[in-house]
This record gives sequence, C-alpha cells and structure tokens, in this order.
Amino acid sequence: MFDRKYYRALGLEDVYQRVLHGERLSEEQGDLLFACPDILAVGALAHHARKRLHGRKTYYVRNRHINYSNICVNHCRFCAFRRDAGEKGAFTLGQEDILERIQDDQGHPFAEIHVVGGCHPDLALGWFEELFRKIRKLRPEAIIKAFTVAEIAHFARQEGCDTAGILARLKEAGLAMLTGGGAEIFNPELRERICPEKISGREYLSIAGEAHARGIASNCSMLFGHIESHGDRVRHLCALRGQQDKSGGFVCFIPLPFQPEHNELARKLSARGRASARQTARGLDNLRTIAVARLLLDNIPHIKAYWVMLGVKCAQAALHFGADDLDGTIMEEHIGHMAGADSAQAMTRRELEEMIAGCGFTPVNRDALFTPLDPLLDPAPAPCRHSPIKACETPTPAASGVSPLSPARPGPGAGQ
Ligand code: SF4
Repeated sequence: MFDRKYYRALGLEDVYQRVLHGERLSEEQGDLLFACPDILAVGALAHHARKRLHGRKTYYVRNRHINYSNICVNHCRFCAFRRDAGEKGAFTLGQEDILERIQDDQGHPFAEIHVVGGCHPDLALGWFEELFRKIRKLRPEAIIKAFTVAEIAHFARQEGCDTAGILARLKEAGLAMLTGGGAEIFNPELRERICPEKISGREYLSIAGEAHARGIASNCSMLFGHIESHGDRVRHLCALRGQQDKSGGFVCFIPLPFQPEHNELARKLSARGRASARQTARGLDNLRTIAVARLLLDNIPHIKAYWVMLGVKCAQAALHFGADDLDGTIMEEHIGHMAGADSAQAMTRRELEEMIAGCGFTPVNRDALFTPLDPLLDPAPAPCRHSPIKACETPTPAASGVSPLSPARPGPGAGQ
C-alpha cells in the first residue's frame, strides 16, 4: 500500500486505517473510493484486503458450462442470449445431448457442472430434477451449480408453489449451489428500465437467503457499466453485504461488466453516443469496481475475475485489484459471447495455471465451494470437441492464443 500521508492527501485516511485494521467500510466510503482520482491507490487497498484473506492463492475450477436453452419468457434489455420459441437462433438441448456433452468429457473429473439458461416457458421443474439425477449418476464427483435466482422464481410461478418448495425439490435432486446470476443492479428504477419483468432486487436477496437457510450455497453478482451510477453500484454491493450478514451463504461475488453488442440496451446507448464513452473507460472501470467490491464485501470470501466477460488481460490485472478467482475451464459458453465477449470458449487447466502464475500468484485447483482439490487426482482435460451450439448466429472466436502468457493451445488429446 501507499503510505498514510498519501491516502490523507486523497481524502482516504480513514479508509486506509480501516482497511489496515480489517474494519468495515461505510457506503459513503465506497463512494469515496469510486471518486478517488488515483485508481492504483484504490487497487493497493483492495490488494491488501485480498492478501489478508488469501495470501497469494488464486483459485480456478475444472468446470463445464451447460446453457440448456436460450428460449426465455423475459426480455431483459441487456440480454443478447434470449430468443422466442421458433425464432431464428433459438435452441433447447435435449437431455441426451446434455448428457452426451458431459459423458464426452469422461476421464476428466470436473469439480463443477454449471447449468443455466433462460426462463423457458415449457421446460418443467421435473425435467431438471430428472436431468440432475442422471448427471449425478454420470458425474458423482461433480457439484451441480445451477440456475439464477430469476430461474428459481420462474419455476415457482410455473409450478404454482413458493420458491422454498422449488429449492427443496432441486436440492433433493442434486442441486448444491445457485450460480448467482439475475442480480443485475438492484436500484428499482433502473431495474424497471433494463429488466422490467425480472424479480426485484429485494426478491433476489430473499430467495438467496431461502437457499442459504436450506444449505444451498450461492454466488452473487452485479451487472455494471450500463446506465447505473457509481452510487448504484455501492448501494448494490452494500445490499449484498447486508444479506450476507443475515444468511451467510454467498461464496463468491461475480462482477459482470455489461457486454455491448447484439442487445437492445447497447443499441440505445450507442444511439445516444454513450456506449463508446463507456467503452473507452471500460478496463479501468472494471478494475476499480472489482477493487471496491473487495473492500466493501468484507463478509464474502471470494471475488471473481470472470475471464469470459473481462477478457484474459483484464482478468489477470484484476488479481492485483482484489480478485482471487478466475472461474474455470468453462468448455462452452454462450451467454457472454452472444453479447460480444471476445474471449475464447474454453481454457485448459494449464492455461489457467499459467495465467495465475504469470502474475506472481499461486494457482489453487478448487471445487464449486472453493474447497482445494488435490492436483494429483485431477489430470488435465482434453479440449471439448463440441462446437458452439449450431443455432447460435454469433461467430465465436477461435479457441487459440487466449493468454499472453500461454503457449500455443495443444490439439485434442494432447497432455497438459
Ligand atoms: S437475462 Fe436471463 S431472464 Fe433476462 S432475457 Fe436473458 S435469459 Fe431471459
């Protein structure tokens, strides 16, 4: 960290003292951190907090994403993923297709299967219960992490019961964790403008609390870099912190930068000349937001630098701004890529480890709940042979050259 005098000159002496002594920051201090002209000074505080929690450890997970369908009854303005049934580009994977994808990776012990899609009008809860039971048979070693809180609310409406009942049934079928998506930004006025049909922020927190009370952990998130102010971000983070004080089940916070392509909100911002201005400041804004999140979320253990949305270089830099996790191998991702994320579709374990070590940190292979795994029990995977889902119209970048620190990607079956 810089010295006390420097922080005093920036008007952050009290923040500095509190960070030094591991004390909670106030909302107003969150605002000061966003207003500070020296982003490196903010980053240094976050790095101090991160080191106190995790030292130089940086986590990653051997995971596989399954985006089961992009058909959705909602129309979130920032979403490039959703389609109506029958619309060009709409897809729904059958159970056999999903199981085949998971089966194909046999021999590579995934620690996490991440299942998320749209709020589908016809796929009933029973379909997912059956799917999870089959996945558990096929992959008993993997933790099933699935659904945004919005999907849980959608199932409750579909089934005509409360969300607690949905969570109980899914837990019985094998759900161990919720993904954390659906939080967007909690400010109700903005929510009305960007995702009017989605559950409110209050409902998001309440359902997350219900999950925690039933022993289902969750991540939590924030979509930022669209029409919200820094103050909205601070209030959002403090609301998550307040919920965590009550229910304690958030494992990791995921900052999700708004992806500026193929969605209605991006088109509107671009027409007003605001998207390009946002884009110019994007990298630094991402880093500052991650740093402020680390400093405010003193009760949430992990902060993710999600390489899919941030890009590899920014994710690496974020490890020095408070983040301690990169997410994982992913294998196949559609939500961010359909909205303009220009990262690869997958990373190998070796690439992730090199990304981490190249920044001076120590890679830790983890499961979905951040339990460290023995690397000797976890052989490296072969790259996924599945191409992106055919119905996707957006071309996906070639899966090569993702990391400035990585060697050329080995071909299928190559040892890593
Ligand atoms: S963000 Fe989720 S709920 Fe909203 S439209 Fe997209 S898929 Fe549907």
